[in-house]
Amino acid sequence: MSAFLPFALPEIGDDEIAEVVDTLRSGWITTGPKARRFEQAFTEFLGDEALQCIAVNSATAGLHLALEALGIGPGDEVITTTHTFTATAEVVRYLGADVRLVDIDPATLNIDPAAVEAAITPRTRAILPVHYAGLAADMPAILDIARRHGLKVVEDAAHALPTTRAGQLVGTLASDATVFSFYANKTMTTGEGGMLVTRDAEVAKRARVMRLHGMSRDAFDRFTATVPSWYYEIVAPGFKYNLTDIAAALGLHQLKKAHAFQQRRAQIAAAYDEAFRGLPLVTPPGPQGGDTHAWHLYVLRLAEGAPIGRDAFVDALFKAGIGCSVHYIPLHLHPYWRERYGLKAEDFPRSQHAYERMLSLPIYTRMTDADVARVIAAVRGALG
Ligand SMILES: *Cc1c(COP(=O)(O)O)cnc(C)c1O
Repeated sequence: MSAFLPFALPEIGDDEIAEVVDTLRSGWITTGPKARRFEQAFTEFLGDEALQCIAVNSATAGLHLALEALGIGPGDEVITTTHTFTATAEVVRYLGADVRLVDIDPATLNIDPAAVEAAITPRTRAILPVHYAGLAADMPAILDIARRHGLKVVEDAAHALPTTRAGQLVGTLASDATVFSFYANKTMTTGEGGMLVTRDAEVAKRARVMRLHGMSRDAFDRFTATVPSWYYEIVAPGFKYNLTDIAAALGLHQLKKAHAFQQRRAQIAAAYDEAFRGLPLVTPPGPQGGDTHAWHLYVLRLAEGAPIGRDAFVDALFKAGIGCSVHYIPLHLHPYWRERYGLKAEDFPRSQHAYERMLSLPIYTRMTDADVARVIAAVRGALG
């Protein structure tokens, strides 16, 4: 019996480790030269010089900063999907604004543009789509709705590095801001971290100031200026959301590997798709022709007529030594969201239906072909 196969593991190489050690020895361990280099490298990765990249200590922080910079506040509503992690929605509440949760497309499990349009009220200010599992949301439709109703769009791209839609990388689309996550189990990691990307100069300026206490100049600027400069001004009650150079050191090397990481995950997804054909399972939809799916998650659903339920399926996989998970318990089922907005499962039939039948299999670059085969055998075994 082999050891337990965890649901997720980061892939940290010798170059990441050497860069972190170099940072530790350098004397500058918080936000400094490596965070700057990481931001520049991210702009280069996205391939558009007009984009500004702002490194932060989580995607949650980045989403909060983006909405704050766009002026979202009390009395406003932001529309997002119920089928996400709570971070997507909680940032709206940080600002005193309200969340309007909507249902998903039953095939892609991404936010349903028709449901978005139906949820618009005079108070709606922004749409917050999530690229679920690493598959791009229907951005042409969402951007069109936003244009017609004068709404802002902030993309939660926590799963979407690298993801393309019609050949364009998520991060370069015509939204107001896009936020990536470098949490430990994401498609690349800095331990904890995130990147706010925007082409709006005003949003970038505000987010840079609010990222660090509302200070007019950051510590690195002040201590490395050629003219000694201890002076700064506080222009707003900001946050403590800066990314450390220790974390950025990891990010510099992870980013170089992001395409290779995606290729390995796509290979694993293809092996799963192939192996599960003919079983009573709904395999996750692939990208549209020629596009890239980041494959942060591989979400299976039990088909009608499957011999077991989801919970028994998850138990059987655990007993076979395979870690798996469920993405997500929809927000409408959590006490806070349910009670605050009086939500009922019947209001979100497609998310609810998917939730009751779904589980996520391990999909990460440190898995060997033998690990993939083990997962496949365990899935077959669990279905009897
Ligand atoms: C992980 C995740 C976040 C939060 O990312 P952090 O970097 O941990 O703050 C936000 N949205 C979604 C959909 C996520 O999966």
